[in-house]
Amino acid sequence: MKEVILCKYGEIILKGANKASFEAKLLKEVRRRAAHYGNYSVRYMQSTVYVEPLDEAAEFSVRELYETVKHVFGFAAVCLAAACEKEIGAICRTAAEYLPEKLAGAASFRAEAKRSDKSFPMTSPEVAAEVGGAILDVMPRLRVDLDHPDVTVRVEIRDKFAYIHAGQDQGAGGIPVGTGGRGLLLLSGGIDSPVAGYMMMKRGLFVDAVHFESFPYTSELARDKVLTLSKILTEYCGMMRVHVISLTEIQETLRAGCDEPYFTILLRRFMMRLSCRVARENEADVLITGESLGQVASQTLKAMCATEDASSLPIFRPCLGLDKDEIVRIARSIGTFDTSILPYEDCCTVFTPRHPKTRPELEKVLAEEQKLDVAALEDAAFEKRYHVDVRQYEKN
Ligand code: ATP
Ligand code: MG
Repeated sequence: MKEVILCKYGEIILKGANKASFEAKLLKEVRRRAAHYGNYSVRYMQSTVYVEPLDEAAEFSVRELYETVKHVFGFAAVCLAAACEKEIGAICRTAAEYLPEKLAGAASFRAEAKRSDKSFPMTSPEVAAEVGGAILDVMPRLRVDLDHPDVTVRVEIRDKFAYIHAGQDQGAGGIPVGTGGRGLLLLSGGIDSPVAGYMMMKRGLFVDAVHFESFPYTSELARDKVLTLSKILTEYCGMMRVHVISLTEIQETLRAGCDEPYFTILLRRFMMRLSCRVARENEADVLITGESLGQVASQTLKAMCATEDASSLPIFRPCLGLDKDEIVRIARSIGTFDTSILPYEDCCTVFTPRHPKTRPELEKVLAEEQKLDVAALEDAAFEKRYHVDVRQYEKN
């Protein structure tokens, strides 16, 4: 008996003529992950990707691989299953061998069968009844409950083999990373921006990141925290290039020469311009931020308009309509929350004005900005940029 992984397509089932390119990305992504764990066959048929261990070592790692396949965008459901020959005796023997572990702790079960191979000589209810009987033979204390079973056992009779499993997990949903183009995430160490990046990856964008630091006002720990966050995000996207730009000189110049209530908005305009330069250099077509309407002074409608005016690229703000609670829920579910709440300074929180403008008028912002040599400050910051490549696995 061999345990395999079945990954069932989500939304890409609905794709028309270009479905094949979505499938190719999906397959490549599963293959990349499988290669890290061992020798696997990864193929697709009938809107399902089949992942099958090819040697004993791979058989041992299949459950670890399963955990990461849950994070591949494009699948609606994933499950671990036992594969066997399409013959009722083999199906019953495999069920009796494979399922007791899965049914441990359950008081009741129901067996279901589905045939996508209609040439199989028994009907689905007949297969279900046989398999149910085989399970009861080895687990006589179990009760059959057709209405409210603790566990539903499924037999799927497909093209080459029969597959037996005891329930599936939700897949990551969305569409495969990289099928939607490239975006640049403004990644702070906070709660919102990693969630924003995750949400756009889920919609098929390949996401690189830019992080602004303000050393020595922000610490190396703050930068490491951002790298840790991006490492967590690579669980979904495979790799992420994190560009790092220092805003120290810009912030010191702003403090010395501009009206205090405008500090934050002016700084954010620098962030937008610099991000656009990084994006263009790396062929990203959109910026992504974790802004949420009304969350803080710099995220009022007027403030966002004044910020956006400095960007020559569109800005996606997937958290815009979410409450903090909703963002936190996602942050917890993707595993970034505990890192995000580590208490390090962000460049936006050094030199914060005591009374920031909550409704900055663009003309006044531009007038303040004219006091500065924007181009020279920007060039100097851009020239000192560096990047770190963060990968899910060291090798692939
Ligand atoms: P977050 O939780 O993502 O830090 P926030 O609620 O703290 O967001 P702000 O600090 O106003 O909000 O930042 C709004 C957005 O600007 C962030 O979501 C992020 O996209 C971007 N941003 C803020 N600080 C930085 C930074 N140091 N580097 C890169 N992007 C940043
Ligand atoms: Mg922040």
